[in-house]
Amino acid sequence: MGYLKSTPNKDGFFGDYGGAMLPPPLEPHFKEIREAYERISKSADYIAELRHIRKHFQGRPTPVSYFKNLSDLVGGARIYAKREDLNHTGAHKLNHCMAEGLLAKFMGKKKLMAETGAGQHGVALATAAAYFGLECEIHMGEIDIAKEAPNVTRMKLLGAQVVPVGFGGRSLKEAVDSCFGSYMEQADTALFAIGSVVGPHPFPMMVRDFQHVVGVEAREQFLEMTGELPDMVAACVGGGSNAMGLFSGFIDDEDVSLHGVEPMGTSSKLGEHAATITFGEDGDIHGFRTMVLKDEKGEPAPVHTVASGLDYPGVGPEHAHLYRTGKANYTACDDKEALNAFFALSRHEGIIPALESAHAVAFAMREAPKHPGKSILINLSGRGDKDIDYVTENFGFGEDL
Ligand SMILES: *Cc1c(COP(=O)(O)O)cnc(C)c1O
Repeated sequence: MGYLKSTPNKDGFFGDYGGAMLPPPLEPHFKEIREAYERISKSADYIAELRHIRKHFQGRPTPVSYFKNLSDLVGGARIYAKREDLNHTGAHKLNHCMAEGLLAKFMGKKKLMAETGAGQHGVALATAAAYFGLECEIHMGEIDIAKEAPNVTRMKLLGAQVVPVGFGGRSLKEAVDSCFGSYMEQADTALFAIGSVVGPHPFPMMVRDFQHVVGVEAREQFLEMTGELPDMVAACVGGGSNAMGLFSGFIDDEDVSLHGVEPMGTSSKLGEHAATITFGEDGDIHGFRTMVLKDEKGEPAPVHTVASGLDYPGVGPEHAHLYRTGKANYTACDDKEALNAFFALSRHEGIIPALESAHAVAFAMREAPKHPGKSILINLSGRGDKDIDYVTENFGFGEDL
């Protein structure tokens, strides 16, 4: 049996990681989601409608591009990218949000709910809610609301209600807590739509399966373009959904190596990066078991990276499993390498990447010279329009890097 069909087990475990540790009032609702997912997402009607949406609303399939200029510049391996920056709304997140929205519609729910950090997941979910005629409630820390004004505006234009979260650190972790609280009171009529391959079972599996389209398309397109499979496949890892999407297309191909790229931030000191697999240990966070960056008290540690979409002290349980079993490799790129890649891709390929995706570009630029004659396929998870003001105000146009 292939890897994907056999993982996770029926309790949502990928080896030692995953599962669902829920407050008792939420247990029946997660059971409902699990059963609905098993039944509905395998039905012919659901599959047909999702295919239609992907093609006619999202604009899939997104292409694979060969980065000839960048490959010539750094030398060595040929660098290719799966272009999720060309997916509607400019990133891979809409893949699972549309599928979750469609699931909500089939379940007869009235509302989609989620937390958001930088606002990318909130915008994608608000888009799905608008498309399906559902209400949308997004919880967001006050600090993030102040920092990410354009995404707050987008969510409101799309008809979502943005709930400011004013307690604790007023950021992503508190937004998750706040959203869980609100969801508990309206779970009969709402669907919680988690933004990555994290959270209690079935979300890590469900979001991976909804992102699987990225890997399936990429494998087929790469084969058609080059007549062979890539030697290396790489993606940035925050929670890990864009990486699982791409990896899942190649996971049974023994000759293809898989590489997750974590954010090293400004240094390897705790608090100055978000490289969970590189530096973390086993632990529990937000209702599932995984690897976690912990402070001296054993609590989730503060994290930093220039790419706010990668800012999470945990990681999807499947990545912890792939790491422990050696099926995938994990490394980290720091802010400076990511910024350098951001400028290089803009200048030499005419593509401004999201700072998150720039970590995967940085990995390819670092590895290519070591592997002449080979090929590297990265996931360009999103476009960088959201990052241009921040980058140019703080780092100019890359002259000094
Ligand atoms: C949110 C985001 C990420 C990180 O999320 P994953 O679940 O790790 O994929 C990466 N790239 C972009 C463009 C994002 O918006």
